Amino acid sequence: MRRLARWSLVVSTLASCQSSNRAPAIHAGNDCARCGMTIGDLRFACESQDAHGWRQYDSIECLVGDGPRGSVWLADYDTKALAPVESLWVVKGDFPSPMGGGLAAFRDRAAADDVAGRTHGRVGRLAEVARRQEDPS
Ligand SMILES: [Zn+2]
Repeated sequence: MRRLARWSLVVSTLASCQSSNRAPAIHAGNDCARCGMTIGDLRFACESQDAHGWRQYDSIECLVGDGPRGSVWLADYDTKALAPVESLWVVKGDFPSPMGGGLAAFRDRAAADDVAGRTHGRVGRLAEVARRQEDPS
């Protein structure tokens, strides 16, 4: 019994360490920090952290427009699960997104390639896709 109690303390300590870096859940109905529109479609929701806390967005294009410098988390389009931006592939394609930017994120590279192929899009990390969007050449 005592061993069980100690183990559960270890588990909860680990969980709380992890949660300090983890993006808080985004709830439909919150307002986008940039455009003020209601966050409705969680497949496109995302957030970034700055000195004042987490800022939540209805779309990746709003997040990019804000020029986030801190931690960035995007929703995986297929599962709506938030994940660090470094672990996601971003598609810029010809499909509807909340603010019309045609940006969506995928954990699975094959899924990203598939969507890009069907929407005349391209796949890259967010920094690459966002840079090319700002500076078309
Ligand atoms: Zn927005």
